[in-house]
Amino acid sequence: MALRGLSADRLAQTENILKSDILTIREARIMSEPANCIFCKIVRGSIPAIKVHEDDDTLTFMDIQPASPGHALVIPKIHAANLMEIADADLSAATRAVQRVARAVRKALAPDGIRIVQTNGKAAGQTVFHYHVHIIPMQEGQKVGTHGRAPADPEELKALAARIRDALDD
Ligand code: 5GP
Ligand code: ZN
Repeated sequence: MALRGLSADRLAQTENILKSDILTIREARIMSEPANCIFCKIVRGSIPAIKVHEDDDTLTFMDIQPASPGHALVIPKIHAANLMEIADADLSAATRAVQRVARAVRKALAPDGIRIVQTNGKAAGQTVFHYHVHIIPMQEGQKVGTHGRAPADPEELKALAARIRDALDD
């Protein structure tokens, strides 16, 4: 497209059209992602999740079987199996979301520490093959791994999600 020589108004108009085309392409990609991926289903809204935060590129929701109270997962909306597969832009967006949510977890729950875990491959403990980062609040002396032993009470998860959401920076 020849953009040189266009007026500022025409350029702004063209920019808006391109931005909306990019959003349409992203939505089409999200809708065409693997039908059998549970996290893609959460992104598409075909199965529920207790959400903490959402933007154009990422989604953060509570882990259904938390290793500790406040355990959240950050995922890119576009499917990628693991760290080696994820696109640069989605990795950056997910990493920024991890930092933002971890700050909110610190503010809302005041844990002694926060463990950030990301698994690649079955041998590394990965059970869902859609890139995700665990944010796990830790208390001094607590002996927990990456995975919890039992599903949490949804009402408790909702309450924790609300506390973390309220602590997110604008
Ligand atoms: P991974 O083992 O792959 O590192 O982590 C996958 C995580 O996803 C586990 O901690 C597991 O509890 C969580 N998980 C699996 N299925 C679901 C689900 O349907 N909803 C939610 N919210 N979490 C899930
Ligand atoms: Zn997926």
